[in-house]
Amino acid sequence: MTTLQISTLLSDVLDGHRLTGTEAEQLLNARGPGVLAILAAADEMRERRVGNTVTYVRNQNLHVTNICKNLCGFCGFGRKVTDEGAYCHDKAGIQAQAKLAYERNVTEICLLSGVHPGFTLDTFVDLLHWVHEAAPGVHIHAFSPDEVAHAAHRGGLSSPDVLARLKKEGLGTIQGTAAEILVDSVRQVICPRKVSTADWVRIIKEAHGMGLRSTATIMYGSYETAADQVEHLGILRAIQDETKGFTELVTLPFVHTNTPLYQQGIARAGPTGREDLLMIAVSRLFLDNFVNIQVAWGKVGLKMTQLALLSGANDLAGTMFTDDVTGDAGASGSDYLDPKDMERIVTDIGRNLRQRNTLYELL
Ligand code: SF4
Repeated sequence: MTTLQISTLLSDVLDGHRLTGTEAEQLLNARGPGVLAILAAADEMRERRVGNTVTYVRNQNLHVTNICKNLCGFCGFGRKVTDEGAYCHDKAGIQAQAKLAYERNVTEICLLSGVHPGFTLDTFVDLLHWVHEAAPGVHIHAFSPDEVAHAAHRGGLSSPDVLARLKKEGLGTIQGTAAEILVDSVRQVICPRKVSTADWVRIIKEAHGMGLRSTATIMYGSYETAADQVEHLGILRAIQDETKGFTELVTLPFVHTNTPLYQQGIARAGPTGREDLLMIAVSRLFLDNFVNIQVAWGKVGLKMTQLALLSGANDLAGTMFTDDVTGDAGASGSDYLDPKDMERIVTDIGRNLRQRNTLYELL
């Protein structure tokens, strides 16, 4: 696509044209001056949709276990039970982390965990109770469609049964993780043991249908092509048209260093800066039914985060306090971001920082 063709397309999009998959793929593949035009159009779209406010949530990740049935090739966190460094926290360990989060005045606790082969629905319910006991009133964001499918399979239950029970026991929102790239030929390579695309979509729609909202995620820059990325975004857009249940898109660049897929030469060394910014920008332009596009500061670093905020993003995710999933994959500085540092990069580009809760209500 020439720069002129890109400009014409962008002006159509700003006038209300809904990007097709082919057009979005062409934008993701842009090089040269066209790239900056795309970022500028996405920034304009962000301004129209959400204005000047940049949001963040005061949250904390709570690690349950790194033992995982899936052992995805793009992950440096998951371990087999017998591996060195494998752990699974008990009630005391979970509650100690939850109590610390509570004392830090978080509004959200996010369970970040491997999919332990021995976990059942009752384990998940225990986790909810333990966290609520130690951190009363804090919103719990937990359990991906893959974990829901696992609990259903182990208990001989349906996924709606699992979701309904989790909701009843105090789950606030479910995680739109385990999506990675929703193209089965890619999943067969990067996460063959995870739920299929069809099952991920079904479980997310079931959750939204019963009032459990979720994030949407994309893990990009490993093995997939731009066409795969667009197919993934198209699935998210279609779900959102139907349910309006996604709170935001979380863009997750592949962190490659300590991952089997990279070490075996199957995946590339993660996305480039051009790809990071275009993922944010094209998502903003393509996902016309999403209000919030989030940048993962722990994975792209603070300076790139600031540029992402100028390319269509409006949310900085959370304070986190700890993220061993990103750290174990080889990233540094991924644990904690002080709201004062958020304020610094946000005011530096003429925007306002506001604290939100998980459902994007300003606090
Ligand atoms: S990405 Fe998640 S499911 Fe896959 S190995 Fe890592 S912890 Fe397990």
